[in-house]
Amino acid sequence: MERVGFIGLGIMGGGMTRNLLKAGHAVTVWNRTAARMEEFVALGAQRAASPADLAVRCDVILICVSNTPDVEQVLFGPQGVAEGARPGTLVVDHSTISPRRTAEMARRLAEQRVAFLDAPVSGGSEGAARGTLSIMIGGEAKDVERALPILRAYGKTITHVGPHGAGQMTKLVNQILVVVNQLAASEALLFAQAGGLDLTKTIEAVKDGAGGSWMLAHRGPQMIVRDFRPGFTIDLQQKDLRLVLEAADEMGVPLLGTSLVFQLYRTLQAQGLGGEGNHALVKALERLMGVELGGEKDR
Ligand code: NAP
Repeated sequence: MERVGFIGLGIMGGGMTRNLLKAGHAVTVWNRTAARMEEFVALGAQRAASPADLAVRCDVILICVSNTPDVEQVLFGPQGVAEGARPGTLVVDHSTISPRRTAEMARRLAEQRVAFLDAPVSGGSEGAARGTLSIMIGGEAKDVERALPILRAYGKTITHVGPHGAGQMTKLVNQILVVVNQLAASEALLFAQAGGLDLTKTIEAVKDGAGGSWMLAHRGPQMIVRDFRPGFTIDLQQKDLRLVLEAADEMGVPLLGTSLVFQLYRTLQAQGLGGEGNHALVKALERLMGVELGGEKDR
């Protein structure tokens, strides 16, 4: 069995690592804030002293940290993975980061014959905890085959979408769908509110039709009772939209809907609401439209 290492035991990485341990994998962990490793050591994981130390001890290294510079830091910074990895090591990055810089990292690792997959995930903290994540992978087919027995511990829908960077591009496609569907759900529910409709019945009536979406079906019922607790925060959503708009700019592709939502979220961040769920987008429209969704005070 391959020796597995996990770097980044946050909301997502923590859930994935628990599932790896549950599935019986031999796991070594490293986290920047050392105290976060305790729980996993108690569950049977080994503790590494640094990403380089983890790389020395492992065959397959999984990473789930915040943003592009953070992945670069754990790979190529002092005591980074690149200092400890041997030819034949496989690195799998689950963070959501820049597709272009991902392809550069893959090239840099290939120079020392270290293989790389970009494998961002979708499905939120619930998906990581339940082991039902969608994983979209960029890289070489033989490396995907090698990673599969490990990724199955927390992935349900695992798709090899193309070469290095394609996994990240696909994740950005997912984020465009998330926010534009969120805009549609917000606008439609405010229209229903203005028209005096029963909002629960409205959602029930349209959610499985041609206009339905995951956002409307899952976040709609929360929005109409003003429950804006985060599954995914506005601040994290903005990090991903910045990646989308940056990639679109590099390609010269105009993205009208996504740009609009990015600016609407910015108005909410300016009001200190960046920690609310991404479905709080409706609050930006409420102010513009002079209509408020029914329900009690915000939870
Ligand atoms: P999180 O709970 O904030 O955890 C972030 C992790 O990254 C922590 O372990 C943190 O270490 C580590 N980290 C950050 N910067 C680092 C650096 N420079 N060097 C070393 N370690 C660093 O975030 P998360 O929600 O798990 O998200 C992780 C990634 O998954 C992000 O790219 C996010 O966009 C993506 N994602 C999240 C969700 C979601 O619903 N949350 C869904 C899909 C994808 P410390 O403990 O020291 O802070």
